[in-house]
Amino acid sequence: MAVNPSVSLPAHSGFSEGGSYTVISPVTGRPVTEVGLASAAETDAAIERAAAAFPSWRAVNPGDRARLLRRFATVVEEHIDELAELEVANAGHTIGNARWEAGNVRDVLNYYSAAPERLFGRQIPVPGGLDVTFLEPIGVVGIIVPWNFPMPIAGWGFGPALAAGNTVVLKPAEVTPLTALRLGELALEAGLPEGVFTVIPGKGSVVGQRFVDHPAVRKVCFTGSTAVGKNLMAGAATQVKRVTLELGGKNANIIFADSDLEKAALAAPGAAFDNSGQDCCARSRVLVEASVYEKFLSLLEPAVTGMSVGDPADPATDMGPLISAGHLDSVIGYSASAQIAFSAANGGGTAETAGGFWHPPMVALPRGANDPIWTEEVFGPVLAVMPFRDEAEAIALANDTEYGLSGSIYTRDIGRALRVARAVDSGNLSVNSHSSVRYWTPFGGFKQSGLGRELGPEAPNSFTEVKNVFISHD
Ligand code: NAD
Repeated sequence: MAVNPSVSLPAHSGFSEGGSYTVISPVTGRPVTEVGLASAAETDAAIERAAAAFPSWRAVNPGDRARLLRRFATVVEEHIDELAELEVANAGHTIGNARWEAGNVRDVLNYYSAAPERLFGRQIPVPGGLDVTFLEPIGVVGIIVPWNFPMPIAGWGFGPALAAGNTVVLKPAEVTPLTALRLGELALEAGLPEGVFTVIPGKGSVVGQRFVDHPAVRKVCFTGSTAVGKNLMAGAATQVKRVTLELGGKNANIIFADSDLEKAALAAPGAAFDNSGQDCCARSRVLVEASVYEKFLSLLEPAVTGMSVGDPADPATDMGPLISAGHLDSVIGYSASAQIAFSAANGGGTAETAGGFWHPPMVALPRGANDPIWTEEVFGPVLAVMPFRDEAEAIALANDTEYGLSGSIYTRDIGRALRVARAVDSGNLSVNSHSSVRYWTPFGGFKQSGLGRELGPEAPNSFTEVKNVFISHD
């Protein structure tokens, strides 16, 4: 189950002064390849190239910019298998997920390729003349990506940002640079001019910090932890720099007694353990109406114990490893002190993968509403189940968190579904399903889960400034 040797693993990033990073396979714990990291000076030089490329990129006529983005989407489409295999090698994602992730980049590019000709301003009635608004691109946009979904989260930023006429510098997470670097090469192959989209691998404290500090970067689009996001927002405030923040989550899956309990129990593991639970939208808090709590647990148990954990390159695998040794330690820190009800029989580790970062999916029964397994974002395959008495208590428990990213409601009562969906303070809710992300619907968090929205029809607007122009009749 080693890394697929047919995948070409880029060793050169075009940067080197910031040292290098040894990419480790989460499956085996063994080195995969070495990536050169950018220094602060190299980052500044890349930002300045992006600033130099901005005037001509914004001037590309809308139809041509659209065509270039469609061509970029086509080139991504032609490399879906390669990109997916790279992600399996770098991040240990299951091959099915990784193919979906590469396909999502293609879809996002295709969707936003329709934006350049549709960046409409408005004509507003005024006396004495004509008033029109323009959506002007901002300039250089810095996109900072976490390690959990390296391809989609990159695309959600660069797709609409490029479509709106901005140039982009993008920093992947230190541990997962490979697909982003390849996407940077594919953009050039598709014909995007040099400097329009530059991938800069490096440390958050170096490259990411330059995105915050360099005045030519006019907006930072950050996805990552709430702690880093807060610091970044404070840093950006010194230049009144625009930010979009997509941060953590501790999302509730609320299951009422009148729901299709079998369906809810079968779906709950996927909603919490997809991508090994390393998902800001993971429904890691399951709230079950007290009258069906025991029955729900008895239905959930076989769905969890039977999960297939192992080789992510095998299409039959449900769950792969965690991203890194450090993250595995962090997840074990939670699971070792939690009250575990049951876990998957197969934890993933074999003699061949003994050095990998394996953690079985687990179901915990919190000791109370203050138990860390219930309150903190574990970002691993541990879900916690708690009973509730009635609708009011379910809503109160769901909202008893500083996060507000996603959530689910299982009920057959449509009135209740609507009441609860309106009452839960989260940006993305689904009823009788766990879907959170469609590239054509808006995505983002309430409270400390973020600021602003990505995706959906309005995303390009968030990479523009509104300019109002009045033209006098006289
Ligand atoms: P992280 O905050 O440690 O890192 C995210 C990115 O920020 C990385 O590229 C990192 O190098 C960079 N960074 C670190 N320090 C920085 C600094 N001082 N200045 C600028 N950039 C810096 O997060 P992570 O561990 O990579 O990702 C996991 C977190 O991301 C979880 O909390 C998860 O919930 C969150 N997340 C949120 C969403 C969402 O859409 N809301 C999506 C995915 C992940």
